Amino acid sequence: EVGKMIIEPAPVPVATVLADVHSLVRVQADQAGLELVFPPVDEGLVAWCDEARLKQVLLNLVDNAVKFTPRGGSVTVSVERREQEGALRIAVRDTGIGIALEKRDLIFDKFTQVDGSSTRARGGSGLGLAVSRRLVEMMGGAMSCESDGEGRGSTFHFTLPVYREGEHI
Ligand code: ADP
Repeated sequence: EVGKMIIEPAPVPVATVLADVHSLVRVQADQAGLELVFPPVDEGLVAWCDEARLKQVLLNLVDNAVKFTPRGGSVTVSVERREQEGALRIAVRDTGIGIALEKRDLIFDKFTQVDGSSTRARGGSGLGLAVSRRLVEMMGGAMSCESDGEGRGSTFHFTLPVYREGEHI
């Protein structure tokens, strides 16, 4: 899977991608008893990235957020513009089981599952985050995660370059 990763960057309207992702995960979140929050995104916001790869990364993060958040919680996907860095930052925040501090870097390693037993019961290969981080890096961004601790939710965020006419060719 990792060996075949190819990035074909183009101008990508972020609001459109998020709307697609929203409609793809709505039913899944509903069935899990979770509130799904997608605050409005500036229609003029355009990333320089590979649209299919961006969707793949977002689906992986939202999938995890849904998997690791108990019923009654919420998952929020938001975007902010970081003008100084010429980048935008996308965040997937959940109110779920959280991630212990000492595990926060390990989860981006291939095949890491924080809690083998409970995680495997939830399904998953352990490859998702390693691939997602690598894809984001190949698109010129970076990915990291934050958590206030176990039981207190997690936030995964990543950056992407903002498209500026004439700058990328
Ligand atoms: P998989 O989901 O296939 O196990 P990932 O690479 O996507 O693999 O995730 C690795 C591990 O990181 C998961 O098994 C889980 O322990 C932890 N993790 C990922 N996302 C979250 C999240 N939103 N909340 C809590 N733990 C998470």
